Amino acid sequence: MSKPRILTGDTPTGRLHLGHWVGSLENRVAMQAAYDCYFIIANVHAFTAPSRLENPGEVRQSVMDITLDYLAAGIDPTVSTIFVQSEIPAIAELTFLFAMLIPFNRLMRNPTLKDEIRDKGLGENYSFGFPMYAVGQCADILAFRPALVPVGEDQLPHLELCREVGRRFDQLFCKVDPHTQDKDYVKAGGVFPVIEAKLGRVRRLVGTGAPSAETGQLLKMSKSLNNSIFLSDDPDAVKKKVMGMYTDPNRKRATDPGETDAEKNPLWAYHETFNPDTAWVSEYQAKYKAGGVGDVEVKRKLVEVLVALIEPMRQRRLEFEKDMGAVLNVLKQGTAKANVVAEETLYMAKEAMGQGYWRRELRGL
Ligand code: ATP
Ligand code: MG
Repeated sequence: MSKPRILTGDTPTGRLHLGHWVGSLENRVAMQAAYDCYFIIANVHAFTAPSRLENPGEVRQSVMDITLDYLAAGIDPTVSTIFVQSEIPAIAELTFLFAMLIPFNRLMRNPTLKDEIRDKGLGENYSFGFPMYAVGQCADILAFRPALVPVGEDQLPHLELCREVGRRFDQLFCKVDPHTQDKDYVKAGGVFPVIEAKLGRVRRLVGTGAPSAETGQLLKMSKSLNNSIFLSDDPDAVKKKVMGMYTDPNRKRATDPGETDAEKNPLWAYHETFNPDTAWVSEYQAKYKAGGVGDVEVKRKLVEVLVALIEPMRQRRLEFEKDMGAVLNVLKQGTAKANVVAEETLYMAKEAMGQGYWRRELRGL
């Protein structure tokens, strides 16, 4: 019996951080034995940020960094498939086809695109390719016809779009009855499944910085927002970030009552998420709330907790870094395997659209 397929991945805009770990990566490591996993490194989407057009070398660096992060986190390339988006031609072709199925206004109503425009300060200065990346993401996913897509909460609007595209395609070209239940689209003759998101243990981990001036809410930890603790940070870097992070701004002394809501104070968001000693967390949270413990003590404990999680990964990363040729080879092998599936999907889609003239073969990839 073949294992059900998973597709998920990352944009190479930096190294992976704690938000990736609890939002998706931890799930991927746990699921790789039971599922046939495909992890995409979406390098084309990295160019949605205008600054990267001037520094394309950074994107390449990030592709290698993220591959190292995967390996260090425990993704096993002999079990799971890691691949580079730009080397999968079927994804670009499906993007074009799917763009025909998505009303432009519908695309621009996507709340994640709106959040990104605001939080990344894109203003009016984004390219046509910026909203297009949401269409591209439908292709990234559907090219693999996956059973599950493990992601963080910010991806849900994109996945909703992907579900709509799948239904629309199947209804239009495969004559699937619109009353069909989502889980039955493929059984009813559809090429594409109506995909299912799988959220991580934490849907949205906040960053180390102050809340957004516009919304008053803490921003999500994001590679692009300079508020991240990376899985490859050394103990000194972790310490520096934790000791300097945003906490309760109204608290001047340890005897002042402090904010312990994880939505408002990242210090407690991180303890709740990462500290395995839940008794310590409850005890100190109560003390903090009443004004019985200083920020420094709670931060020191957090450094200990985070270093215990991150350091083994960082050590493994250092080992993998010694042979970057082997790391590139992981990508090459993975991409070859991913192309087999994506080509198959593209041909199925073309046939359904009456455009399956002959089967093509990719060579030399
Ligand atoms: P960028 O700032 O370039 O958008 P990012 O940090 O948001 O980078 P992505 O590559 O966009 O990272 O996201 C990869 C995956 O990690 C997605 O599934 C996303 O939902 C998840 N993820 C990213 N940040 C967080 C977070 N802070 N909490 C939970 N999940 C997250
Ligand atoms: Mg993102």
